[in-house]
Amino acid sequence: MRWSRLRRLVAPASCRLSRGRPVRATLPLLALTTTVLLASTLLLYSSPEEKRVSIYSNAANYGLPVLDRNGDEYIGLLELFEPLGAVSAKANGNRWKFRYYDVESEFTAGQTRARIRGIDFDLPANFLLENGRGLVPLSCLGTLMPRILGGPVTFNQNSRRLFVGNVAVHFTAQVSKTVPPKLVMNFTAPVNPMIATEADQLRMAFNHEAVVAPGSQALTFDSKIIPSASFQENNGSAALVIAATAPLMATFANNGRTIVIEPVPQAPAPIQSTPPVPRPPSTFAPPIVAGSPNPRRYFAVVDPSHGGEERGASLSAQLAEKDVTLAFGRRLRQELETRGLATLLLRDGDTTMSLDQRASLTNSAHAVIYICLHAASEGEGVRVYTALVPADTENRGPFLSWDAAQSAFQLLSQSAGSGLVTELQNKQIRARTLITPLRPLNNITTTALAVEISPPADDISELNSPAYQQFIASAIAAGLANIRDKIEVRQ
Ligand SMILES: [Zn+2]
Repeated sequence: MRWSRLRRLVAPASCRLSRGRPVRATLPLLALTTTVLLASTLLLYSSPEEKRVSIYSNAANYGLPVLDRNGDEYIGLLELFEPLGAVSAKANGNRWKFRYYDVESEFTAGQTRARIRGIDFDLPANFLLENGRGLVPLSCLGTLMPRILGGPVTFNQNSRRLFVGNVAVHFTAQVSKTVPPKLVMNFTAPVNPMIATEADQLRMAFNHEAVVAPGSQALTFDSKIIPSASFQENNGSAALVIAATAPLMATFANNGRTIVIEPVPQAPAPIQSTPPVPRPPSTFAPPIVAGSPNPRRYFAVVDPSHGGEERGASLSAQLAEKDVTLAFGRRLRQELETRGLATLLLRDGDTTMSLDQRASLTNSAHAVIYICLHAASEGEGVRVYTALVPADTENRGPFLSWDAAQSAFQLLSQSAGSGLVTELQNKQIRARTLITPLRPLNNITTTALAVEISPPADDISELNSPAYQQFIASAIAAGLANIRDKIEVRQ
């Protein structure tokens, strides 16, 4: 059973952590003096340009496909209302009866005249019935939906964004006079945009949030480095594009209600200690990520595994591993910081990062401990993994091999892992340690653990419950705080 668990984590179908990479020769001491942080390409979010409409409501935020029929745009009425409440529909010949709670509507295929709540309603184009599925013209939603819902609906047809009730998320944006300047954005509700950076701009895409334009679509700031931003809406999504003359990074605060954009700090002066921090053998551009390292020493680097285009395991139909690890990582950071343990969260948004990037950023942060987070639908409680460094990849001379970078820290990691497990067991949490060839653990030059969280007693939805996440995050943070002396003293 242990083996099947182990193998599932090492080579899972959808959780794409790879085995230790193929053995490579030792690395030359290259690039130690080059800057680590300034390169700047991150995968841009792209989606196939399927026509979509986004619906924002207190019940749910969701998107639906838009269908082109006879030169008009249509949408399925049942799908549109389903997330909003109890619906049913019945086709009878040409007639289609639709019910939302106790509100009845009747439509006729090939006709514009409909009846809602017993009153005539004229559609701008014919109602369509396809295999029992009722389709209405998109352009009528702003008037049709309020009639059925009995409440206000705002529909921006150009951007295909529909707001049911008072759900819009507003924001303010101001650039500080500090050096370097910071663009501080405060939102009226938590947001989790997709962030992409290029040399001269940072783009935040709000695919699931009801973020609306500030007073004007274009914002200008009194700053040479961050001169302007523009709000764009298109095909069911909104984006804020921030222009800049320097590479930018974003950090989140205030539970996702505040986003701070600032220039990426210059890399700290290289630390000429031995052994040198290895760089990955491939050429790659470290991304601009939320919470890039600064010269201050962190206690912990917390790495929510997966992210962006890489979803990790599909824990359930609705639940992607990348979202669980991010939510969990944020809680763990908060729990650690509450205990006075400075923590760097490697990704604080839905960003794509490679394993090499994660390892490089961690190694340049010089933290006491690295913890990467995974989530699994099977098993129970918490499993704590340490690296199994490939035996045939040895460090030679003063240079560290990328694949065996962890070898000098293996014993420390194992000791930290068993210390943490004991702490968790003291809190009645099922926990155990395992050793596995799991990247990027073997590339990390400090104490390194992978923590995999499973739901309590097979209820997968609990993985996403704030209470369970908080309970486990708090237990891990308390455990690390308790063994802190043990970990720190030996480094
Ligand atoms: Zn995973």
